[in-house]
Amino acid sequence: MAEALNRPAVHPKTVTLLGSTGSIGLSTLDLVARNPEAYQVVALTARGNVELLAQQARQFRPRVVAIADETGYHALKDALAGTGVSVLAGPQGLIEAASVHSDWVMAGIVGSAGLWPTLAAVRRGATVALANKECLVCAGELFTRDVAKSGATLLPVDSEHNAIFQVFDFDHAERVEKIVLTASGGPFRTFSRDEMARVTPAQAVKHPNWSMGAKISVDSATLMNKGLEAIEAYHLFPVSVAQIEVLVHPQSVIHSMVQYVDGSVLAQLGSPDMRTPIAHALAWPDRMSTPVNRLDLGQVGRLDFEAPDLGRFPALRLAREALQSGGAAPTILNAANEVAVEGFLQERAAFLEIPQIVQDVLDRMGSMPLRGWEDLEEIDRQARSHANALLG
Ligand code: NAD
Ligand code: MG
Repeated sequence: MAEALNRPAVHPKTVTLLGSTGSIGLSTLDLVARNPEAYQVVALTARGNVELLAQQARQFRPRVVAIADETGYHALKDALAGTGVSVLAGPQGLIEAASVHSDWVMAGIVGSAGLWPTLAAVRRGATVALANKECLVCAGELFTRDVAKSGATLLPVDSEHNAIFQVFDFDHAERVEKIVLTASGGPFRTFSRDEMARVTPAQAVKHPNWSMGAKISVDSATLMNKGLEAIEAYHLFPVSVAQIEVLVHPQSVIHSMVQYVDGSVLAQLGSPDMRTPIAHALAWPDRMSTPVNRLDLGQVGRLDFEAPDLGRFPALRLAREALQSGGAAPTILNAANEVAVEGFLQERAAFLEIPQIVQDVLDRMGSMPLRGWEDLEEIDRQARSHANALLG
């Protein structure tokens, strides 16, 4: 009894969700809802889905919600009248919401739109669970410098990076020979270039193993996702470009691997359900139970592997080259890719034009330097403008 009284009160971890209405956001809220005594939601943000954001706010009672699309402000305010939840709007509103104190932040906005809110969370020293890989692709050095300066903690949520994080010996990085990012190969893994020329957005967003937002699904189909992930890995882990390898593994059971100097290879395995890496980051440094389907290797039966085909999937090559050249090349690659993918989803570009547009924009601007935050917005704007012009 005395012991129980002396035990320190357990405070719930306070959490912010940037991008609460997306695929990552919904998976995170699912875990939070299953553990109401352990987690308390402080802030939620979305782009434009007023109805879903209002419903989430009524369920989780955050202090603040923010909607990026200002036209949704009044509807959201009305929907939350009497709840005591503060409502913010616009890009600045998202930054403000991200700046409200919380212990843990899910960076689950898609694209470089996630950069400034995520950076606001980093700059106040939060523990940031990073799903948004575009932050590290478009501003890797600048972003990680701010992480170091503020003392924020960055926890990788992308399944490959979370896998590596779980098996990487950070105290002895010199013992690591290489890291191996696994890739499902996407829905067009076995397609010829001719077949790829005709694929539709509906086919591209239908990923064989994972259920994800549209943009990352298209990136998975072009293999640009794996290229973005190679850049992400470079900034998250103390490895050189040459130590980052990509291996196609269609079953998505092994989420990535670390090879050590003695020949040992350590891997993290699991069912393809983002709630596992999200739970790892949410409970970190503890672990929490999740309802995900348990991996049944007897049922899976076999694991296959093949080298990626850079001829059919040039996006992976482009991303690796951008990482090699450094400077503003990854920023430009990311911006051009975001525009090209959006163009493809709107049927203004064919599937094979996505890497073509990225290549053309890189050819034009790829050797520009990125000296600091002050350069970033202008370079991003220029790359988007060139890519848009190529959409015709
Ligand atoms: P999604 O499209 O399902 O959701 C995106 C979220 O961001 C939504 O809440 C949306 O409202 C918000 N958003 C979109 N544009 C915005 C803008 N301009 N301003 C403010 N908010 C905006 O995307 P997702 O699949 O959940 O992916 C989110 C991020 O996580 C991406 O960077 C993706 O690469 C990464 N990721 C996702 C998965 C996955 O399984 N879904 C896996 C690994 C990494
Ligand atoms: Mg991934």
